[in-house]
Amino acid sequence: MNEPLIIVVSGPGGAGKGTLVDALLEHDTALWLSRSWTTRVQREGESDDAYVFVSRDQFHRRIGDKGFLEWTEFLGNLYGSPLPDADIGKDIVLEIELHGAKQVKAQHPEALLVFVRPPSREEQRRRLQERGDSFSHVTQRLKKAESEEREGTALADVVIVNDDLERAVAELLLAIGVARSLRG
Ligand code: 5GP
Repeated sequence: MNEPLIIVVSGPGGAGKGTLVDALLEHDTALWLSRSWTTRVQREGESDDAYVFVSRDQFHRRIGDKGFLEWTEFLGNLYGSPLPDADIGKDIVLEIELHGAKQVKAQHPEALLVFVRPPSREEQRRRLQERGDSFSHVTQRLKKAESEEREGTALADVVIVNDDLERAVAELLLAIGVARSLRG
């Protein structure tokens, strides 16, 4: 078996990364989605397995144990990708923000870095409001999106505009196919 391909899906809040990744996993059963740890409180209506929700103490202990592939602080909360416990025999999908994406790319230059952009700032605002983020949170995330998009577009191997889900998934599957074939 080849080394697993690491596919990093990054993009500002409200770009629709979660929906895109869910659809991707339905299309490609050779992919495994890493479940991140976070110190953020669970949103109302958010599924229990969206993250492993932990305290800052638990998070810091795992950092001490070198248990993360990458981690970062994002808008006041800690987020990290745990190292897989065992070889899972599948390619790995990480849905993470840019700082983490850069850490992964530095350690694994062969990783495929995908940056997802929302179709427009207005649509992004609508998606953020719809999932129940507070007004200040939405404003904070939209402000952060400007610099994230500049940086992400420059850094990524592939940039996908998430306006039409089916087209976006097809583009992502194509990019993964190419990356797999280059892995040799
Ligand atoms: P949210 O609070 O909206 O769930 O996530 C905030 C941001 O953190 C999103 O851009 C999300 O992709 C990112 N994120 C989620 N898990 C991780 C992780 O394990 N590591 C890093 N670096 N970012 C993460």
